[in-house]
Amino acid sequence: MTTGLIAKILWVAGIVGWYAIRYPFQRRAAKLGVARSAGGARDRVLLVIAAFGQFIIPAIYLATGAPREAEYPISVLQVIVGVAVMAAALVMFRVTHKQLGRNWSVSLETRTDHKLVTGGLYRWVRHPMYSSFLLLAIGQCLLLPNWIAGPIGLVALAILFFFRVGREEAMMMETFGEEYRRYMSRTARIVPFVY
Ligand code: SAH
Repeated sequence: MTTGLIAKILWVAGIVGWYAIRYPFQRRAAKLGVARSAGGARDRVLLVIAAFGQFIIPAIYLATGAPREAEYPISVLQVIVGVAVMAAALVMFRVTHKQLGRNWSVSLETRTDHKLVTGGLYRWVRHPMYSSFLLLAIGQCLLLPNWIAGPIGLVALAILFFFRVGREEAMMMETFGEEYRRYMSRTARIVPFVY
């Protein structure tokens, strides 16, 4: 088996793991009450863009090899670093779901009885689930040896993040007022102490 093929198989395994982690939380979230929805059609479009970059374009690439001109040879070191980053992303993804608990939602929503989570990973950054998405996208970049199918996940994530995060924080400020403002003033967004 070639190194490239191994890298692609490991990436698929990571995506299956990602979905397996999310699935039980998604099922439970569907049954919980929504207090405020700030997402709307715009947020759904952003989620579709993210799905294109992180699943659909990579799936087309894995199934067909397209775009072939963008293929490059991958080294064993790149695969090892890619797997480590992807594993870290999955661990963080699971921990953030656990720590957000019933307050989690796919789109921008607050629950009836929403609690502001400020402990665990949320002590260091206020969007650790998005930090785990960033790691996942870096993993994709490293494990898919293609200049388009690799980095496209980062591009899609950047679009989702920058068009969403301001609205999410505004929604949290509307819900929690001064408490969220104070929380914002002591935390970074996705990279501790940096951004
Ligand atoms: N941006 C967060 C959460 C993503 S899930 C992260 O990256 O970890 C999106 C939902 O989580 C939002 O609709 C909001 O209702 C909820 N949320 C975001 N930050 C939260 C917090 N600190 N405490 C409780 N709920 C939060």
